[in-house]
Amino acid sequence: MDLCGVLAEKDRLPTRLNLDKRNIDLDSLLCPFCEDSSEDLEHSMIACARVKIMWEKIFLWSNFQMPIEINIHALLSLVSDMSDYKKKMFHPFQLKWFEAVIFTAAWAIWNARNRKIFSGIDHTTEWCFSEVQRHLFCWISSRGKVNLNWDEWVANPFSSCIPNRALC
Ligand SMILES: [Zn+2]
Repeated sequence: MDLCGVLAEKDRLPTRLNLDKRNIDLDSLLCPFCEDSSEDLEHSMIACARVKIMWEKIFLWSNFQMPIEINIHALLSLVSDMSDYKKKMFHPFQLKWFEAVIFTAAWAIWNARNRKIFSGIDHTTEWCFSEVQRHLFCWISSRGKVNLNWDEWVANPFSSCIPNRALC
């Protein structure tokens, strides 16, 4: 999941616009989701109306406030760029967890885009959102530091990761 973030930070994701810059012949430069705008990094990961809905769901679920003005670089470094004052409001595990949410969501968005282009499968935003919940549940559970309950996790992930629930 980190790979997607690294690629995005350097704008090396093979979006249709980036492929076109490399002289790769494509049928269309338009975003495969909305077919309304050319597909560059910002559009594919943030600006597309469908992707925006996904981020809104992610932030709402995570109980973190979504910045009004956002770009992909700011989004991927949202946690690392937080002030020390703000960081102290959270348990380090919660910050780590939220960072994982962002990277997993970016990964899920890119995967959904690839499935649409290469397999013709058009997953709903709801499906992609559930994919993020499932992956993170497995990831956090496998680390063995928090007793996670699926229903609680889906309903309120933030409190299911509170420090006094941590085993170490
Ligand atoms: Zn779009």
